[in-house]
Amino acid sequence: MKKLLFTFGLFSTLAVSSLVNSADKPSETDIVAGLRDAALNSNLAYDILESLTTEVGARMAGTPQDALAVEWGVNKFKALGFDKVWTEPVTFSTWVRKEESASLVSPYAHEIKISALGFSVPTPESGIEAEIVHFENLDALKKSPPNSAKGKIVFISHKMEKFRDGRGYGPVVKARGQGAVEAAKKGAVAIVIRSVGTDSHRLPHTGMMRYEEGVTKIPAAAMSNPDADLMERILRRDKPIVMKLQINSHNGPEYTSHNVIGEMTGSEFPDEKVVIGGHLDSWDLGTGAVDDGAGVAITMAAAKIIGDSPHRPKRTVRVVLFANEEQGLVGAKAYAREHQKDLANHVTGAESDFGAGKIYAFQSLVAQDNMPVVNKMAKLMKPLGVEYLNNQARPGPDLIPMHQLGMSVFSLRQDGTDYFDLHHTGDDTLDKVEPENLSQNTAAYVVFAYLAANSEQKITRGK
Ligand code: ZN
Ligand code: ZN
Repeated sequence: MKKLLFTFGLFSTLAVSSLVNSADKPSETDIVAGLRDAALNSNLAYDILESLTTEVGARMAGTPQDALAVEWGVNKFKALGFDKVWTEPVTFSTWVRKEESASLVSPYAHEIKISALGFSVPTPESGIEAEIVHFENLDALKKSPPNSAKGKIVFISHKMEKFRDGRGYGPVVKARGQGAVEAAKKGAVAIVIRSVGTDSHRLPHTGMMRYEEGVTKIPAAAMSNPDADLMERILRRDKPIVMKLQINSHNGPEYTSHNVIGEMTGSEFPDEKVVIGGHLDSWDLGTGAVDDGAGVAITMAAAKIIGDSPHRPKRTVRVVLFANEEQGLVGAKAYAREHQKDLANHVTGAESDFGAGKIYAFQSLVAQDNMPVVNKMAKLMKPLGVEYLNNQARPGPDLIPMHQLGMSVFSLRQDGTDYFDLHHTGDDTLDKVEPENLSQNTAAYVVFAYLAANSEQKITRGK
């Protein structure tokens, strides 16, 4: 009885002190620290990612799974209790992957694991059989004499280097984008590049390529890293290599997908918004867990946690799940066209599209008089292991069009050491994602989005 009385007494003391606290609102710092820690202890992002990769899976632009992903996005936003949920149409031409195979005919017979690159034309049904001509990189191909690849299959062996910030990607991915055009200019009948990836698995990395008007369209594919190593070993033997290549892809009809948008409405300036998000489409080989299911999940979860707070920030937090990023930022361009007139209300934004590694740093791109809010972010992100770098942020891919119109952006930098092991391969699956890393990402997005949305002074890009 005594114990019961004591317990009762303790409860009433707590009740009184909470009454006292509710009279004056907790400080912004306390609110954000509380939400950050709630995000750290929440599995919400992982649950969202589990749902997307299980119930939808691969969702290449223009496929039936693209439509399924849009439906999933709308339903998920609604189930999470977002205040407003809607879609905006995005129309584009499509490409369909079918069978594809490659093998070495001589001097040694080997199967070569390939993936056609996005929008590659097919080979003739009987395939292409031709000698290989090797170039170390795209520049070497460009600088080679006219007809250097006449009647041959170009092989570019440029190997991507692994870095935390992914800077090995840029120099190598040029061969994927422009290789077919440059090879065709030298008379090639096809091109097969070493995959743009840092793994040693026997899985090719797909991705987008481009043709140029007036240049013959030749089939283009990427081979797995171990197969490229094999090719290089055979090349050292100075014997001509003959490859047989079969690609049966084709262009599909025009298709309309949708950007899917969900909002948690701001408490004072609902028309002004902070945009976070990722892209909803993926390539077809994996289930798009790290590219970019993770970004979708992290930003949906961050907005949900902010929206659930009894202390809503002044401005709206808008989550945009962009359609068809992979085949040319199509959803992002449509978004910028649609919202150009509302640019001034797009206070700032950040996209998550670099996998599911921990965030280790962030950058801003804001006017100098906005630095106080950036300093607040730095202080509240520090316990997450996130350092402030500088005021030279570059936009995530889907924010490029809005950034080009003048929108301020932030960049929350993820550890991408392993990202290009998985990127655009059959290995991009949920098991590669550490739940606690997703929670850390969500916590950092909560800090960023809340403080940006709640800033006394509206964030602008400055000069
Ligand atoms: Zn991506
Ligand atoms: Zn991608």
